[in-house]
Amino acid sequence: MPTPIRIAIVGLGKIARDQHIPVIARNSDFQLVATVSPRGDGIDAKPHYRSLAALLAEGPKIDAVALCTPPQVRYEIAAEALGHGLHVFLEKPPGATLSEVVALEDVASTSGATLFASWHSRYAAGVEPARAWLKDRRIDAVTITWREDVRIWHPGQAWIWEAGGLGVFDPGVNALSIVTRILPRPVFLQTATLSYPANRAAPIAAELKLRDTAGSPIVMDLDWRQTGPQTWDIVVETDAGICKLSLGGSVLDLPSGTTKDDDVEYTGLYARFADLIARRASDVDLAPLRLVADAVLRGDRKTVEAFED
Ligand code: NAP
Repeated sequence: MPTPIRIAIVGLGKIARDQHIPVIARNSDFQLVATVSPRGDGIDAKPHYRSLAALLAEGPKIDAVALCTPPQVRYEIAAEALGHGLHVFLEKPPGATLSEVVALEDVASTSGATLFASWHSRYAAGVEPARAWLKDRRIDAVTITWREDVRIWHPGQAWIWEAGGLGVFDPGVNALSIVTRILPRPVFLQTATLSYPANRAAPIAAELKLRDTAGSPIVMDLDWRQTGPQTWDIVVETDAGICKLSLGGSVLDLPSGTTKDDDVEYTGLYARFADLIARRASDVDLAPLRLVADAVLRGDRKTVEAFED
């Protein structure tokens, strides 16, 4: 693959503008050559198209796409891109269903293109050191607290409340992506209670009980109705003391001290994407989304007060 890798962003919303555009600009392995979104405007000096088909027909040549759309429309675009031999970076969650992502993996392995199901929280600064520290520990208990104000973080995002939009699991799957990375053994769901606003198709809160294969209990408290201080914490109690990740994994507290670094996730994701492309490899881990699917499959459902933006 010649570098820079010519990449287009499909879905020019919040995450594309906040992270993908500036991080691609700083990475010499990539060159952003076009953008796509059906309704919104493009960005200065880059050709903009209403669909991937229009870009492929009329636009500059590309090698790769970053799909930053809502998950419900991602499969068709990813399949179209892979069908043209393009390397594909999927924003999280990688799809609206597990089976559609498995189908994409199949297409990628046949075409030889790279498929990268990105989990940005796994690239937070504290995650790999936490994984290394936990590797040989006895895990006694894990507590995940992910409480944020949806009105601050997702104002007016209709898709997030629709079927396949995940609701409170849109941030919650980030916590699950960390937990499934740092814990030394596989994790599975035992029970769940999901709270759905009377007027919405996706949950606003959830309580999950999980465990690992050694029986260590894991509890998860997810809530989008949090006002005031926001919490994105994972606390792991072990035989050697407490490992705590906070602020989504950017701060790590171990018995030996605290480390923090708060803006490395997307830099790490694009380094990983370039490396996968160079090796003609794919990286598709469905473990975090599988736990969300299990919560919906196995969980009790409660109806709570209607939610208006
Ligand atoms: P968003 O602000 O609502 O943006 C979504 C974008 O997708 C919009 O620009 C929309 O284009 C575009 N889009 C919708 N349907 C499309 C289609 N069929 N083809 C091409 N583009 C289409 O959402 P977001 O917050 O950026 O989130 C997008 C994804 O990134 C989600 O999966 C989310 O979980 C993930 N993510 C978000 C964040 C965050 O902080 N927001 C962080 C990490 C990951 P128009 O404007 O033209 O309608």
